Amino acid sequence: MSKNIDWQNLGFSYIQTDKRFVANYKNGAWDNGSLIEDANIVMNECAGVLQYAQTCFEGLKAYTTKDGHIVTFRPDLNADRLISSCKRLEMPVFPKDKFIDAVTQVVKANADYVPPYGSGATLYLRPYMFGINPVIGVKPADEYQFRLFATPVGPYFKGGAKPITIKVSDFDRAAPHGTGNIKAGANYAMSLHAIVTAHQEGFDENMYLDPATRTKVEETGGANFLFITKDNKVVTPKSNSILPSITRRSLMVVAKDYLGLEVEEREVFFEEVKDFAECGLCGTAAVISPVGKIVDHGKEICLPSGMDDMGPVTKKLYDTLTGIQMGEIDAPDGWIHRIK
Ligand SMILES: *Cc1c(COP(=O)(O)O)cnc(C)c1O
Repeated sequence: MSKNIDWQNLGFSYIQTDKRFVANYKNGAWDNGSLIEDANIVMNECAGVLQYAQTCFEGLKAYTTKDGHIVTFRPDLNADRLISSCKRLEMPVFPKDKFIDAVTQVVKANADYVPPYGSGATLYLRPYMFGINPVIGVKPADEYQFRLFATPVGPYFKGGAKPITIKVSDFDRAAPHGTGNIKAGANYAMSLHAIVTAHQEGFDENMYLDPATRTKVEETGGANFLFITKDNKVVTPKSNSILPSITRRSLMVVAKDYLGLEVEEREVFFEEVKDFAECGLCGTAAVISPVGKIVDHGKEICLPSGMDDMGPVTKKLYDTLTGIQMGEIDAPDGWIHRIK
């Protein structure tokens, strides 16, 4: 029985669901973990996460496909990425099989919160890990907690995807040899001032450039860039400080194998941006948000795709990937993890 929720009018905010998965790391080993009902965490005032931000996270969605199954999309890649985040933050890795099992258990236990097919809403899953024992001298914690909760979220675009306006930020998101390529909570803490500032100035998002030379496009606070050239090539920036988006990597496969487009992952100079035909931001939440305008200190770059609709190639990419996710189009092997 589906919960009595108005799926169409759900926003993107936390709604507590029935069960979450918790596992603890102590004395050098993970316990088996289990589903619990308590949504609150009690920890010491000196917990590593509270003092030195030793935490990383993931984000993925569960949804109902056309034929009525509940699935998640490429959770193995979220598991792999959490492992890289843990390694970089000197945290014990959470094993991949345990990760997939936790996803499966949480979705099954909260199956009533998975929105119906066609609603556009999804059950957002948030796996995360943090140092939980007291740490006062700067060092990694000895004990950790892995958690995974679910919260239903509404359709990202209500009434169609309208192109957004972004600004070239004066702030940096990630240092050249820093933590930009992992999903560390600290990256987001750093980005809050920049996004609040951008919103106050009337922009939807920030475009971050490479901090070293400020000549190359990196990404936004939480989504990778895709550009379409005037001759329909799909181009995405390459840099060691970009977070490897699973959506972006999937879209590159869709572009090449499903749409027969040429794809390129390479350095993208800001200078070239004015010559692209389309631009989009990709991430789990929206799949692709079309960008209509990029503003660099008052200088406007208006993408030829305009401010009314997604560009034609971006739209094809969007429709194909969401079609694969929703079970309307055959998926490449291993992309769809069926839960129910
Ligand atoms: C999570 C995230 C993305 C998007 O990754 P997906 O796996 O596609 O959801 C992009 N950029 C940053 C900085 C992120 O944290």
